[in-house]
Amino acid sequence: MGFFNQAVLDSLIDQIAVLDKNGIIIAINKAWGNFCKENNGDISRCGIGNNYLAVCQEEVSSGISQVLHGSVDHFTFEYPCHSEMEIRWFLLRVTPIAINQNINKGAVVSHVNITNRKLIELQVKSNEERYRLIAENSTDFISLHTIDGKYTYVSPISYTMLGYNAKELLNQSAYDFFHHDDIDKIKLSHQKNLNCEGIQTINYRFRCKGGKYIWLETKSQRVLSTDGKSEEIICISRDITNHKKKIKKLEKTIYIDELTGIYNRRFFNLKLSEECKSNGQTRKPLSLLAIDIDYFKKYNDTYGHQKGDEGLTLVAQALKSSIRETDFVCRIGGEEFCVILPNTREEIAISIAEQLCKKVAGLKIIHRKSNINNYVTISIGVSTVLAEGFTQIDQNEIFSLADQALYKAKECGRNQVYNLS
Ligand code: GH3
Ligand code: MG
Ligand code: MG
Repeated sequence: MGFFNQAVLDSLIDQIAVLDKNGIIIAINKAWGNFCKENNGDISRCGIGNNYLAVCQEEVSSGISQVLHGSVDHFTFEYPCHSEMEIRWFLLRVTPIAINQNINKGAVVSHVNITNRKLIELQVKSNEERYRLIAENSTDFISLHTIDGKYTYVSPISYTMLGYNAKELLNQSAYDFFHHDDIDKIKLSHQKNLNCEGIQTINYRFRCKGGKYIWLETKSQRVLSTDGKSEEIICISRDITNHKKKIKKLEKTIYIDELTGIYNRRFFNLKLSEECKSNGQTRKPLSLLAIDIDYFKKYNDTYGHQKGDEGLTLVAQALKSSIRETDFVCRIGGEEFCVILPNTREEIAISIAEQLCKKVAGLKIIHRKSNINNYVTISIGVSTVLAEGFTQIDQNEIFSLADQALYKAKECGRNQVYNLS
């Protein structure tokens, strides 16, 4: 071993020994010698001239022999080597010295300190075990799916919550289980996950085994897959079906008018504000009908308050049964109603209003004291706003316009529809 070669060997941090073809140590570097000394190793057994095969454990000496005989082209072995002071792991690596491909001249043995990598690996493993433990015992449904929706992990609660065991879900597309009407909302949420917009929370319907849908509230976030090669979405889902039912019941008590059974003023305010906001985004027209029963004071005076209540209810129900599923009829005051017509142009709104007028008159609720008709009639004011980013003021404006139109309808003789434009 020349001076130059020794200098190169000594410059290496890893502990290195060179063996001849019989396993005899023919060179070591400084790190090898130091390690022996620092760890109470016997340099007389691990130093130059010793047979290394005789000092190492059987599995290692057998691996080294295989390299020396050319039956494998390298041998590696990871092992812990903790001292009293520190935790350490090493990687033993044996590579042949071959002058050409056939003649084996010995081997180089190196011990590389891999403690840092090992500690990280152990930490990851322990974290994974912890997370798995949490996932497997959680009452929430925890799942992972690929970007295009394929399940890669589902927690065991899937069986009790959804009726599916893991086999029935893994590799299936989560999208196959979502309610059709909720898919756009879910896609948008996943898109936000991928854009790193943080944890997304959405409510949607999921089809259980047997076809029944339940409501889930899901929190989702983007994560790296365990192999680190791709992105996945982790979802933590809770069954909120009962909660939804309770909310629906509660909404019934706070948003429904007791006398007529249609929506009340509280609902009207909420819905109109929502529609103004969403129409501001979608830039579609929003129409509103303001409705008032004609000469209703006289009706009460003639037939009594009780009959008045009955008449009011009949009118409310007639309005409700005549509108589209997407419209909302609300009792906003005594004998005053409003109909919110989302995504509706003025001509359509006018035509709907005219049908409502006819419908109420057609009920033929006798009103002898009405100045204009023998029956109870209504007047309707129509307003339409073309969306340009509504604010709260616009919400008041659309209402005020409909109210002004209603006033005109009254002025022009009642039992009719009026629009200001
Ligand atoms: P018009 O609207 O055509 O100008 O005449 P009107 O007589 O209907 O006038 P207004 O709308 O101002 O009067 C509302 C009347 O409706 C007053 C009251 O007698 C009656 N009313 C309001 N709320 C109720 C109710 O809850 N039950 C009953 N029975 N009557 C009500
Ligand atoms: Mg009135
Ligand atoms: Mg009236």
